[in-house]
Amino acid sequence: MGGANGLQETIPDANELAESIMSQCPRYSICTFSSSIAETEPEAFSLLRTRYCNGNYSACARFAVMKALGPERVPMNLHPHHHDQARALISGR
Ligand code: SF4
Repeated sequence: MGGANGLQETIPDANELAESIMSQCPRYSICTFSSSIAETEPEAFSLLRTRYCNGNYSACARFAVMKALGPERVPMNLHPHHHDQARALISGR
């Protein structure tokens, strides 16, 4: 039982860390984000998919509205980086 072994048990390796950070959004299967932008702005769609849907979904504006108000209240044209609109929707403005 050495110090090095104890340290290895408490610190996740790079693969575990990457997996926990880069996990897919739990709302992926019900989210309509793709149909609102995929064909008209494919590059932006790809970037946002990587950044939010397969990355930091908890920072997504659509995710926040879905969580607060329900999936039926998420506008088609609300994109993951539209944080101001999400805040306005959630606060009822
Ligand atoms: S747009 Fe947002 S809510 Fe929809 S799948 Fe991507 S991260 Fe999830």
